[in-house]
Amino acid sequence: MADHLALNFCPQCGTPLQDREAHGRWRRYCPTCDRIIFRDPKVAAAVLVEEDGRVLLVRRVFGPAKGHWSLPAGFVEYDEQPTVTAVRECREETGLEVELTGLLDVIPGGELPGEASFTVVYRGRVVGGDLRAGDDAGEVGFFPLEALPPLAFASTRAALERWRVRP
Ligand SMILES: [Zn+2]
Repeated sequence: MADHLALNFCPQCGTPLQDREAHGRWRRYCPTCDRIIFRDPKVAAAVLVEEDGRVLLVRRVFGPAKGHWSLPAGFVEYDEQPTVTAVRECREETGLEVELTGLLDVIPGGELPGEASFTVVYRGRVVGGDLRAGDDAGEVGFFPLEALPPLAFASTRAALERWRVRP
């Protein structure tokens, strides 16, 4: 996985970091705190909402793959469960309240700078709300698999392919 953001200073004390071999690989190390600074993966959560054979997609207005379409999704906050993230992001981006009905897949990513390292993709169904684009979504809509708009990420394609094979 590409290392898009270098880690140069200790997040605790601001000392310039060094490299040190620890736990089987080279890692960043703070000589002042005498501790290894572990890098964590960026985790996203998404929801695949189906209605009458069509899938809910949002057009991204910010960040990587701007202008292309993805599932309602966002980064999991450090103190948040991915199920909560998925429901929250869907509400913020599409106006729809969803209930999660299961796990679709966990899909690797991280090809683009700023993209999640992996995405936990749930299945969901609409239980309320009104469809409207909000937050960082330019447009929202339901699309059939045979007429999808330009998709944002390889992980978006992977999730839809996974759903196509086993709806
Ligand atoms: Zn330090």
